[in-house]
Amino acid sequence: MDETYDVVVVGGGAAGLSGALCLARARRSVLVVDDATPRNARAGHVHNFLTRDGTPPAELVAIGRAEAAGYGAAFRDATATAVEAVAPGGDRAARFALTLSDGSRVAARRLLVTTGLADELPDVEGLADHWGSSVLHCPFCHGWEVRDRPVAVVSSGPLTAHQALLWSHWTSDLTVIGPVAQDRVEELEARGVTLVPGEAVAVVEDDGRLVGLRLRDGSVVACEAVVVAARAMARSALLDQLGVPTQDLVVEGEAVGRFVTAGADGATEVDGVWVAGNVADPRAQVITSAAAGLTAGAAITFDLLAEETRHAVAARRASAAAAVAQG
Ligand SMILES: Cc1cc2nc3c(=O)[nH]c(=O)nc-3n(C[C@H](O)[C@H](O)[C@H](O)COP(=O)(O)OP(=O)(O)OC[C@H]3O[C@@H](n4cnc5c(N)ncnc54)[C@H](O)[C@@H]3O)c2cc1C
Repeated sequence: MDETYDVVVVGGGAAGLSGALCLARARRSVLVVDDATPRNARAGHVHNFLTRDGTPPAELVAIGRAEAAGYGAAFRDATATAVEAVAPGGDRAARFALTLSDGSRVAARRLLVTTGLADELPDVEGLADHWGSSVLHCPFCHGWEVRDRPVAVVSSGPLTAHQALLWSHWTSDLTVIGPVAQDRVEELEARGVTLVPGEAVAVVEDDGRLVGLRLRDGSVVACEAVVVAARAMARSALLDQLGVPTQDLVVEGEAVGRFVTAGADGATEVDGVWVAGNVADPRAQVITSAAAGLTAGAAITFDLLAEETRHAVAARRASAAAAVAQG
């Protein structure tokens, strides 16, 4: 084992960096392992982050890293590929051993896993090329940028009507392509949303710019942005190895994603393992992921302190008992 830390944070996005900042300021040794594949990598800017609105995602991460590093947090640019629980020894002993993609192994007393989620896009040719720029999911992230512009929503499950209703607030030029729950049609039409039957099969481009969606019948719906409901799948591979449970994200009886089960402070059912951010909360934004990281960091601080206090009390009792035995 190369090194042992109080806490290894796997995932250096908003959640992980915020947790690392809290833990480093709490005088804990912290290692952040990150492989630079954040969820919003394709977006130009982070919005709705008070004091940092409009900051490029990579710049926000760089600022967060510098702040945590300033209090002693260490960083490793690598993927955590495997983890195993090790039997706890005595005071301050490691409970987890991680293998990293650079071949090293590190040990930790506690784990904070903030690996985020993967968005699985509907099967429409060309969507991935424009993801985060003109293929969008969240109006709080991108609605302002395409306000009043022609926008098309690709029907892809139970979230479609909800999404269309929401986006109709940002633009009155909204078209839904594909099926919509029958009991929501009246609401959408009352909001001025155009409903087009059929199936979107490909993005239409002009000089690299998204200008529409081609339907299976060959017709084209012109638009400047496309809204999709991506499946939100927790990046839980490491947690799966430790037996941390996950659950379906269910909307109107249909699974539209998967997330890790955790308490309000990020504690999982596996002792010593915490989570924060999108891996546990698919709806979390950047600022709420950062808040969750802080909450988990504080909870881990209490947990480490409780363990150290138990050991201190046991040692004190043992020495008192030894003193009595010696007369
Ligand atoms: C296109 C798009 C635009 C968005 N725009 C906004 C916006 O404007 N405002 C906003 O508030 N939210 C926005 N979001 C949501 C935002 O991306 C998330 O809320 C935020 O990224 C969640 O932070 P996180 O720390 O949980 O996860 P992430 O930011 O995804 O960070 C997870 C980190 O874990 C690392 N990682 C994963 N697995 C491993 C592993 N095994 N080993 C090592 N490292 C690992 C990754 O490299 C990554 O850096 C947007 C999302 C998308 C998809």
